[in-house]
Amino acid sequence: MAKRGILIGRFQPPHKGHVEVAKQILREVDELIIGIGSAQESHTLENPFTAGERMLMLSKALVEAGVKLSRVHIIPIPDVNNHAVWVAHVVSLSPPFSAVYSGNPLVKRLFKETGFEVKTPPMFKRKVYWGAEIRDRMIKGKRWENLVPEAVLEVMREIKAVERLKDLSKTDYLLH
Ligand code: ATP
Ligand code: MG
Repeated sequence: MAKRGILIGRFQPPHKGHVEVAKQILREVDELIIGIGSAQESHTLENPFTAGERMLMLSKALVEAGVKLSRVHIIPIPDVNNHAVWVAHVVSLSPPFSAVYSGNPLVKRLFKETGFEVKTPPMFKRKVYWGAEIRDRMIKGKRWENLVPEAVLEVMREIKAVERLKDLSKTDYLLH
């Protein structure tokens, strides 16, 4: 029986830390499920990319890193806005899994209460590989390109990600 583990995040955008952690988890499990959280969200400063864009970026980054996609399942998970039923919601959408990998205290608590094995994966250069920091750098015109895998960079160029983020950060306040 294949051992499957799940890693849940928003991946706004996927960065080099995510690829490292995915490779690390794949040493412990046969198959990795990557849950794209807040899947219904896009075009906001916190969640600029659609679930489809995030799935595309992740799968291409994993292929680039030499990961066999037959060992990975990427699934969208929309918010339910109810922490008490969230684990059941995830289970209802995901291929079956026995291990949960997360650094997020709330995610860990919710899965532990339901009886799942929860593991905390190591953080890779968390001070630089950090989604909020990357989004902030893109808006401010600072260097961010080295923080994401080349494959993610290519998709970001295709969807004109910097232009989108800069537009999202604008306000019409001064025009009135
Ligand atoms: P944000 O700042 O938008 O929250 P993030 O970098 O924390 O972005 P998430 O999508 O929240 O990325 O993370 C998904 C999962 O990846 C979480 O379980 C998180 O613990 C893990 N993770 C995030 N950054 C790293 C990293 N640098 N190394 C290892 N794991 C990471
Ligand atoms: Mg986070």
